[in-house]
Amino acid sequence: MRQLHCDVVVIGAGATGLTIATDLEKAGLSTIVVEARDRVGGRLRTETVEGAVLELGGQWVSPDQAGLIATLDELGLETFERYRDGDSVYVDAAGSAVRFTGDLFPTAVETQNEIERLIALLSALTDEVDPAAPWEHPRAAALDAQSFQAWLEEQSADAEARANVALFIAEAMITKPAHAFSVLQALLMAASAGGFQHLVDADYILDKRVVGGLQRVPLALADRLGDRVYLGQPARRIRWTDSDVTVTTDGLEVHARRVVVAVPPNLYGRIAYEPALPASRQQAHQHISLGLVIKVHAVYATPFWRAAGLSGTAFSPFQIVHEAYDNSGHGEATGTLVGFVASETADAMLALPAAERRERILASLATYYGPEAEDPVVYFESDWVSEEWTGGAYAASFDLGGLARFGAVLREPVGPISFASSDLAAEGYQHVDGAIRIGHETATRIAGELQD
Ligand code: FAD
Repeated sequence: MRQLHCDVVVIGAGATGLTIATDLEKAGLSTIVVEARDRVGGRLRTETVEGAVLELGGQWVSPDQAGLIATLDELGLETFERYRDGDSVYVDAAGSAVRFTGDLFPTAVETQNEIERLIALLSALTDEVDPAAPWEHPRAAALDAQSFQAWLEEQSADAEARANVALFIAEAMITKPAHAFSVLQALLMAASAGGFQHLVDADYILDKRVVGGLQRVPLALADRLGDRVYLGQPARRIRWTDSDVTVTTDGLEVHARRVVVAVPPNLYGRIAYEPALPASRQQAHQHISLGLVIKVHAVYATPFWRAAGLSGTAFSPFQIVHEAYDNSGHGEATGTLVGFVASETADAMLALPAAERRERILASLATYYGPEAEDPVVYFESDWVSEEWTGGAYAASFDLGGLARFGAVLREPVGPISFASSDLAAEGYQHVDGAIRIGHETATRIAGELQD
């Protein structure tokens, strides 16, 4: 076993871990990053599949994501706007495709009014929630005891309005059924994105992409860290005292003053801790889990929907693919659609043989864009749930009651062990922006402690 020594060992070379190591090195502290996979980036991965460059994981940048934007600027990475000219498409419960512009889905007027009323209610509630401490809301316990679905049913008798409002948070963000997470969890999601209205406005939340792919961020950070990053080294064990740690991987024993576990919370239990973590942590870690979404990429010879006056933006709470976008690459002549299949629909799709799943998913895309969508040149499904070192997508959320009960505990260090990832972030929660923000915060705190 190779012996290594540093001030801080970071477990996980995703956006969070690499931001932490970068900041600590800048502060004059020595770091080592151990990464389980043979690549950096975690949930960021830009890959060429049958000649098509695809963003398999995170990709979009929105205007409020100051942490991510600052990193992009610092690394000199360029962005480009998502194609959005033309009409969007909404598919109703009967399976009819209706063109529309703006944010409001083209439902019956009464349903539109109901959707607007629910959004206004949620916007007002969101404004009461501090994303850094949602558990401090005066009604935190009650809001965390009620499922988002139950709250919607209490507020409105209009099933289509409920399904559409649920879509913004459940399928599109938390990627769990609306009965499986609380109102408080939904409000945290919205507050961390700067307000509920931002989640409704696809042009805001899915504004820009990085030329060459968002994985360029972790790749560039890792490049600067050079030989401090060790790939193919899953952390198996953390031995700790009040003042030091030893992290054991398959080939290394790293001795340090601090460790940061920068992996998604569902993987905390894959590491053995000696001594064991305190009781509250062991409980907390069992109440937070990743959602499930399949990101589907379909590449065509041309972006044929543009000629038909379509932007590529499409939504339906009734379709297998609940949302889809023009995801063509920068300056490419080919056209790429990206669609998302989430939570219980994803369960049903994953239970099918691959060929049948592909057929059903492409048929769903055809409902939005017409029969041409059924015949892509390249078809690929990003299946993060099958990845050992992720286990779901996009990120982690608490079960009912978990956020009020354990949210604060989860962000506390345990002796020399800190935990950080986008799943624990306040602003930018579940996003790369949150990974970078919590990375900076964690590094600043640790540097302050070690330099005292
Ligand atoms: P991760 O990226 O998960 O990094 C953790 C790292 O730890 C991984 O590299 C993993 O291999 C490693 N690891 C795990 N266990 C161990 C161990 N025991 N030892 C060593 N290493 C270990 N965000 C956006 O902002 N915009 C988007 O458009 C967007 N879309 C998304 C689409 C998909 C399909 C997915 C999956 C995510 C998306 N996200 C998006 C979310 C975003 O990608 C994540 O929030 C962010 O990348 C998480 O970064 P992280 O460093 O906190 O965690």
